[in-house]
Amino acid sequence: MRISKLCQNIAPSATLKINEQAGILRAKGLDVISLGAGEPDFDTPAFIREAAVRAMDEGQTRYTPVSGTLPLRQAVCDHLLREKNLSYSPNQVIICTGAKQALMNTLAALLDPGDEVLLPAPCWVSYPEMIAMAGGKAVWVHAAAEEGFVPPIERIRAAVTDRTRAIIVNSPSNPTGAVWTREQLMAVGELAVEKDLCIISDEIYDQLVYDGAEAVSPASLSPAVYARTVVINGWSKAYAMTGWRLGYAAGPKALIAAMSAYQSHFTGNPNSIAQAAGLAALTGDQQCVRDMAAAFAARREMMLALVEKIPQIGCFVPAGAFYLLLDVRSVLGKRWGGQVIRTSEDFARILLEEAQVALVPGDAFGAPGYCRVSYAAANDRLVEAMRRIRRFLNDLFALQAMEA
Ligand code: PMP
Ligand code: GLU
Repeated sequence: MRISKLCQNIAPSATLKINEQAGILRAKGLDVISLGAGEPDFDTPAFIREAAVRAMDEGQTRYTPVSGTLPLRQAVCDHLLREKNLSYSPNQVIICTGAKQALMNTLAALLDPGDEVLLPAPCWVSYPEMIAMAGGKAVWVHAAAEEGFVPPIERIRAAVTDRTRAIIVNSPSNPTGAVWTREQLMAVGELAVEKDLCIISDEIYDQLVYDGAEAVSPASLSPAVYARTVVINGWSKAYAMTGWRLGYAAGPKALIAAMSAYQSHFTGNPNSIAQAAGLAALTGDQQCVRDMAAAFAARREMMLALVEKIPQIGCFVPAGAFYLLLDVRSVLGKRWGGQVIRTSEDFARILLEEAQVALVPGDAFGAPGYCRVSYAAANDRLVEAMRRIRRFLNDLFALQAMEA
């Protein structure tokens, strides 16, 4: 059967692919440590799971309104007011099947064929594919580690054309962990107002910030910026609810209505039981969020100390999320088992084969020469993974010295 050009050109999610590869090796009996896909290792808190069971028992098993139940949309509004001092009404909110669908709906509602979306990079693997799936064109705006992985505003401005419709800002960032400052966001806000751009603000890691960093929403900066921002968020990271597939978007009423029309044909409402669970999550005791965030903060400290013990590689010190972007450029060009490690993809593959540690190569994030580590894993697994990486690098470098 002939496959459409659109689908022929979609690169499968590199983050999800690594999970599958690790799963295949594990099924063969290998002790694989997967620091691949970014997914909290915690179980969804009990009170949230119980709310789902109750919802099923009470018969909340039918279609809901396409954009989500009114109580849930109201709870999102209350949450945004409480957490970020952002004022939304329920008709400015749409509940979706994961933040993924919230992003896809937004792009579909905004873009005409050939419209451009600015993509500060390194960035999450799904953005460029989603932009293409919505008929648009991703325009990468790269930033280096020395720039804190946030592109200077002049570089962003230089990438604007008369086809630019939007910019995706993801702070804290996947994969870098960079957190944009208020000033950096304000500069983007002013540019958006001047050039009539939409800011798609993916705030899914907003609960995970460290060393006094603050996750600022561009929507909070001024009424003019609020009017052109779509806030994207969800339950996956903050409440350890990746499998429930629940996310949301909040933004201008007309845009949300267009997204709802689109969603009505695509999936209809998000899962009714997940919505009941999501309502319990937002309205219940938030201590679970703080506890998980504290665990990630402790792991981050531990991981930074472990990376420091490995002389061959370094990493950017992240202020948010649960990733470390390892700089593996020193291994490129080295030989292992008769093959040359040319890319971070080669390195990740060989590391998985030789040391049974799964990382995501940086190429798909627009970060060649880097590999992403997710430290959303148990402490003893993290320690063991870093021990294996250290040993592999020692062997690799010793081999080069012998050959030289
Ligand atoms: N945005 C970013 C930056 C992410 O890393 C993820 C990870 N899953 C998502 C959005 C989507 O989350 P979900 O669809 O699970 O809500
Ligand atoms: N967002 C996570 C990651 O980047 C989960 C996997 C995915 O959906 O991409 O690893």
